[in-house]
Amino acid sequence: MTIKIGLAGNPNSGKTTLFNALTGATQYVGNWPGVTVEKKSGKYKKNKEVEIVDLPGVYSLSPYTLEEVVTRNFVIGEHPDAIINIVDATNIERNLYLTTQILELGVPTVIALNMMDLVRKNGDQLDCKKLSNLLGCPVMEISALKEEGIDAVTEKAVELAKQKKSQNFVVPVMEEVQSALSQIEKIVESNKINHSLPKKWLAIKLFERDEEVIKSLGLSSLVKREVESCIAQCEKLLDDDAESIITAERYAFIGNIVANAVKKAKKGQDTTSDRIDKIVTNRILALPIFALVMWFVYYISVSSLGAIVTDWTNDVLFGEIIQGNVQSFMESSNVAPWLTALVVDGLIGGVGAVLGFVPQIMLLFLLLAILEDCGYMARVAFIMDRVFRRFGLSGKSFIPMLIGSGCGVPGIMASRTLENDKDRKMTIMLTTFIPCGAKLPIIALFAGALFGGASWVAPSVYFMCIAMVIICGIILKNTSAFAGEPAPFVMELPTYHIPSLKGVLIHMWDRGKAFIIKAGTIIFVACGLIWFLQSFNWSLEMVDADTSILASIGNVIAPIFAPLGFGDWGAAVATVTGLIAKENVVATYGVIYGIADATEESQDLLAMIAANFTTVSAYSFMAFNMLCAPCFAAIGAIRREMGSVKWTLITVGFQTITAYLVALIINKVGSAVLLGGSMVEAAIAIAIVICVITGVLLIGKSKLKSSQSIGLEG
Ligand code: GDP
Ligand code: MG
Repeated sequence: MTIKIGLAGNPNSGKTTLFNALTGATQYVGNWPGVTVEKKSGKYKKNKEVEIVDLPGVYSLSPYTLEEVVTRNFVIGEHPDAIINIVDATNIERNLYLTTQILELGVPTVIALNMMDLVRKNGDQLDCKKLSNLLGCPVMEISALKEEGIDAVTEKAVELAKQKKSQNFVVPVMEEVQSALSQIEKIVESNKINHSLPKKWLAIKLFERDEEVIKSLGLSSLVKREVESCIAQCEKLLDDDAESIITAERYAFIGNIVANAVKKAKKGQDTTSDRIDKIVTNRILALPIFALVMWFVYYISVSSLGAIVTDWTNDVLFGEIIQGNVQSFMESSNVAPWLTALVVDGLIGGVGAVLGFVPQIMLLFLLLAILEDCGYMARVAFIMDRVFRRFGLSGKSFIPMLIGSGCGVPGIMASRTLENDKDRKMTIMLTTFIPCGAKLPIIALFAGALFGGASWVAPSVYFMCIAMVIICGIILKNTSAFAGEPAPFVMELPTYHIPSLKGVLIHMWDRGKAFIIKAGTIIFVACGLIWFLQSFNWSLEMVDADTSILASIGNVIAPIFAPLGFGDWGAAVATVTGLIAKENVVATYGVIYGIADATEESQDLLAMIAANFTTVSAYSFMAFNMLCAPCFAAIGAIRREMGSVKWTLITVGFQTITAYLVALIINKVGSAVLLGGSMVEAAIAIAIVICVITGVLLIGKSKLKSSQSIGLEG
């Protein structure tokens, strides 16, 4: 028999850390709400009969957000044998709010006071015995991070589960409320309403007019009216709405507990975190600091340290050692020349071009993981809330984008945490604008080839992408499909702390391993295919790349990109193969220039790219590849999250057109200003973009009007 134990608690209370410590799993430990939307389960390392479920973090069990619904349905519907309620002991007041609701559900519960290492450091004192008496369930101290007390708490939960010892907790309320609750309880009983829920909990939920519960009971309108009159009477008596009444009662109870069992060392003094936040989230300084931090991240990972390591892996490891040795080995063992070419130029050249960037990608992920783990990224969502709010999105939309800077797929999935459907759709449409890790090699390659590795290139591309999120956000919000007020964004800022090495490494590896796996699978196959297509012509004779199948296909597509400054077949093919996976853009160049090189003196991929682009067309190429339709995996995720083919097509079309227009402006205006190109063409490009934006706004608005008038008629 397995024993199922759920881990429930506020976001950032340490559930995932505890889950990983107990199960040996390596789950994503995130420092903002909404990272775990689906529950994950694993087996307890020390007792395989115990199944542990990591639930999404919630502040309460009301039915307003997806996380709350998932957590609540688990506790009510899946009958866990016990619950470990993780309480962030540095923030006990807010955390106990959820605790009071969990205890009411009657499932055997043990409370784990987490982050005790921090509590002790602050010099605060918590009285476990008193807490346990007041809450009527065991309370134990742990530190999930330092893995202290975690086995004891799990064993306690198992013990409770075996005894099936549920507690009988209800939050004490004042008389007026109590009488309303008792009446509701009686109504439920006398009408013989069928349910398997704890009676007292049910009464509270009905009192709060909880829609999910009302729906699940299927109450008749008569019963509903009876209940409603009880509620209304109490509301009138206390001059407050029912939900607020219960909330106030919970906080009153918690206040009482805290006064009894918690002794804070220093009261009302600013903590170090508060002091850092005064600067980092300052209205004026916040954005420049964020820009500086991200500039630094890209500078380190792409331009300085990352470039040195990547140069070494590309030139020495893949170029000289692997490619050189394999080539001479295959030649000396008389392998057919085409096979040598396939392996050396196609597979090693292409896959190597991608793998060469792994150090840069890992470095980027390492730095992002550190920023996230120490608590800074949570501030960024908070800071961006102020920017996003101006055009009607909340900072919650920025969280998927932050996650998307690793990979777009989890980023798109994280948009689930947005309650408002319009905001969610819009966030999905904008998330992949943020360069994911697979797009990083494109930036790194072109920054190296045409800009001499200048440190401003990578950050400027990143900021251009953020600017496009904001500009497109403003445009979309002005159309009927997305108009509306931003949802309120409440997010608690975790205290800053020094990230744990383990956490950061897990996090980096979690995001980075996908590249290595992809390089060995999709990219590997794609490289073989690209090599084949660019080595043979339609009559299957081995030819120069310029007369190959690939070139002939590329030449058909290429004119589309000519206005963007990169109308040669190589760039066209690279862009299209990028749809399979963005790494393919670089891999394609690795393959096609790998072979063209064989007879030439220069073996250098960078030199070949430099010969085919100008600085302006290179920037335009980067911009297009950052913003256009994402890879198939991400498009698949968009399809799942949108739940509609129509919206998937709209999204992909919207992204590709945006990318095209941005690249057009960069190329035409950039050429005119920097390379002495035609001013007229630049003006035409600007005019086209203005026309398109105006068109979108006009159509979007007119739809808004027509849908309003339909609304009036209906
Ligand atoms: P979840 O949102 O509840 O899953 O919380 P996480 O497991 O993602 O943890 C949030 C943050 O708190 C992470 O940065 C953890 O490293 C940190 N954390 C978790 N447990 C402890 C602990 O016992 N002590 C300290 N100092 N930090 C912790
Ligand atoms: Mg978590």
